[in-house]
Amino acid sequence: MAVGLPGEQTRWRCTRCGNLTRFDVVRSRRTKEYWHFDLGGDATVESSELLREVVEQVVCRWCGADDSIEIVPRPDAGGPTEETAG
Ligand SMILES: [Zn+2]
Repeated sequence: MAVGLPGEQTRWRCTRCGNLTRFDVVRSRRTKEYWHFDLGGDATVESSELLREVVEQVVCRWCGADDSIEIVPRPDAGGPTEETAG
């Protein structure tokens, strides 16, 4: 079960190594798009609406952990300011 998306006051943190800043993220996005074709057949996506977004996997770029990512507060909300293990 992957961790959820961070919000305005939160961020991700790797509990194994303390990484706060670098992650590989696999996510699925279901979108509704307005495709506008010209008469030659070339299309431009003129608008896109996000219907659903699911984070499937978050992997720490530092240590490779994919089961150790947690949600913590941002520094402004009392969260960690340094990338330290433990
Ligand atoms: Zn890590």
